[in-house]
Amino acid sequence: MPNLRGAACVGSPGLFDPRDPSEDPADTAYRHNAARELCRTCPALEECRDWADSQPDQTPAVTGARTRETAA
Ligand code: SF4
Repeated sequence: MPNLRGAACVGSPGLFDPRDPSEDPADTAYRHNAARELCRTCPALEECRDWADSQPDQTPAVTGARTRETAA
């Protein structure tokens, strides 16, 4: 695991989760935008992106201000 000291997502995991099939896509877009904004304030952003890029499982959660479908 990378050193994610000071990670801005601590305490807000629900913003970052992939879309559940029962979730309205507009709601997913809204919370993922909020998650990406939080990431942009995160002191661990670079380390987080490096770690995410090294992972074979690229689920569409928000990580490092990005989702699999959307680059920051
Ligand atoms: S960049 Fe985003 S997902 Fe990564 S540690 Fe920071 S807040 Fe969490």
